[in-house]
Amino acid sequence: LAERMRAFGTTIFAEMSALATRTGSINLGQGFPDTDGPEEVLAAARQAISDGHNQYPPGRGIPELRQAIAADRERRRGQRFDPETEVLVTAGATEAITAAVLALCEAGDEVIALEPTYDSYAASIALAGARLVPVRLEPPDFGVDLDRLAAAITPRTRLLLINTPHNPTGRVLDEQELAGIARLAVAHDLLVITDEVYEHLVYDGEHLPLARFPGMAERTITVSSAGKTFAVTGWKIGWACARPELITAITTTKQFLTYVNGAPFQWAVATGLGLPDSVITTIRDDLRAGRDLLADGLRAAGLEPFRCQGTYFLTVDVARLGFDDGLDFCRRLPELCGVVAVPSRVFYTDPGPAASFVRFAFCKRPAVLSAAAERLATLS
Ligand code: PMP
Ligand code: GLN
Repeated sequence: LAERMRAFGTTIFAEMSALATRTGSINLGQGFPDTDGPEEVLAAARQAISDGHNQYPPGRGIPELRQAIAADRERRRGQRFDPETEVLVTAGATEAITAAVLALCEAGDEVIALEPTYDSYAASIALAGARLVPVRLEPPDFGVDLDRLAAAITPRTRLLLINTPHNPTGRVLDEQELAGIARLAVAHDLLVITDEVYEHLVYDGEHLPLARFPGMAERTITVSSAGKTFAVTGWKIGWACARPELITAITTTKQFLTYVNGAPFQWAVATGLGLPDSVITTIRDDLRAGRDLLADGLRAAGLEPFRCQGTYFLTVDVARLGFDDGLDFCRRLPELCGVVAVPSRVFYTDPGPAASFVRFAFCKRPAVLSAAAERLATLS
């Protein structure tokens, strides 16, 4: 394995999903729904296959999807993008982020990201030969400390990588935090990637796109994905929206990562984005109910979850149950009670007190969450 990738073994999601399969446990580790997305969207994918949309789509994505993405950003977020030059369809948000980091960073550049950090970021930054500079979000509210962010900026800082709603904390950044981030980005002339894959999965608070803050439209790459919005995580249709020079740069890299992907799913996502809002809000409301159900179950097990405003995830501190290492806890959880979770420590460069934090996914059917809650209750 090349030196730059040596710090990366199997992703925690693969390890924990394999553990769940091997032990027959309820898998609240890797974040994926256990029901399929809206029937209209699934039907559109079947139809696209029947209609013969099975060969390479255009490099930037089918025009119909790029138009649907631009229309969606304008209608739901008040952002304007030209579908011809300012929208790129990618193999999930993962590829959008990797292609952007590879396209925009020189070796030795610094990329500032909020920590805990979604696991693919560190690997993307390492692939680019750049350096991850973490800025910690501290419990209990996991807010952005703007002084800390300012102090992390150096002459080598090239990019800020912001994620809201935030995985794994469930935090939704507020107007004041985003305005502060925007001021710093403008003052230091930084580019910003915003990972907004959970933009529609907000249960309290409001998702605000960073690109709409003053001076940000020209320097922000807005990334989102259909996986979470339509509960189809395996389709891997994501996108990046940004000014034409940035999209051209990202496209140059993306061409040689995957070239293109998911032709029939691109058609289906274009259909999905045009459906009434209720299609997405129903998914969100079901998830909110799931969050509340699992939160009650965790409380009954003696684990008070941190506040979660969005995403698929609740975080608890298992130190309350006498475990000081969340990885150890997660590896034992199947034998203790037949449930699988993810240790949040893997999202930190140096977890410190977060070593005992554990993330539970609630994107599951109510019956599954109730069964998990019953099993967890035996822990206390
Ligand atoms: N960013 C975050 C914060 C995520 O949680 C995920 C995955 N669930 C992704 C990116 C990857 O999204 P995709 O599956 O569209 O690549
Ligand atoms: N984003 C999902 C999570 O955080 C997992 C995606 C993956 O397995 N790479 O659980």
